[in-house]
Amino acid sequence: MKAVRLESVGNISVRNVGIPEPGPDDLLVKVEACGICGTDRHLLHGEFPSTPPVTLGHEFCGIVVEAGSAVRDIAPGARITGDPNISCGRCPQCQAGRVNLCRNLRAIGIHRDGGFAEYVLVPRKQAFEIPLTLDPVHGAFCEPLACCLHGVDLSGIKAGSTVAILGGGVIGLLTVQLARLAGATTVILSTRQATKRRLAEEVGATATVDPSAGDVVEANAGTVGFV
Ligand SMILES: [Zn+2]
Ligand SMILES: [Zn+2]
Repeated sequence: MKAVRLESVGNISVRNVGIPEPGPDDLLVKVEACGICGTDRHLLHGEFPSTPPVTLGHEFCGIVVEAGSAVRDIAPGARITGDPNISCGRCPQCQAGRVNLCRNLRAIGIHRDGGFAEYVLVPRKQAFEIPLTLDPVHGAFCEPLACCLHGVDLSGIKAGSTVAILGGGVIGLLTVQLARLAGATTVILSTRQATKRRLAEEVGATATVDPSAGDVVEANAGTVGFV
């Protein structure tokens, strides 16, 4: 199969590699869609720890083509999306429920082969079945959306809240929508990119600010309270 490999920092290539063999607890998944994350760029530039050579891609969706011998509850033909972060369950962070901060974290597409390939191996416990009627691109969006949802949950946004979001990339634009769904009535997004400011307003931002043109706080004086 073809795979996009981070060979070493600064060096990505498309190569033919073997289709992986599922272990007893694994699913072999034919990838339908895989998002390109800002983290992938950081990995390329060595700005985020990884263990190359590795196939990148941690925001993916696909169809199970083979289930390991110990997997009972997902069968070939199911569509899944993956939680790429494989936590150890034993370290102090895991035991405190903060599995995203696991000290022994191994992530699909960062430390082990990911979704920029025709097939990816996903441990059963990292897989979530999603409807076959869902657009696979939306399936691949589950991972970044989950990150934003976690942030919104932690933020304590409630009905009538005012929210400022810094950055208009995918994460910022998803957070605009989640903040509105959580009840925020004023959602201000700050980004230098005019196209992203327009898009933010289309998806629910009540105001947008160009931080290179002025101060975000000053532009919203009287609107923003800090917590
Ligand atoms: Zn990501
Ligand atoms: Zn851990």
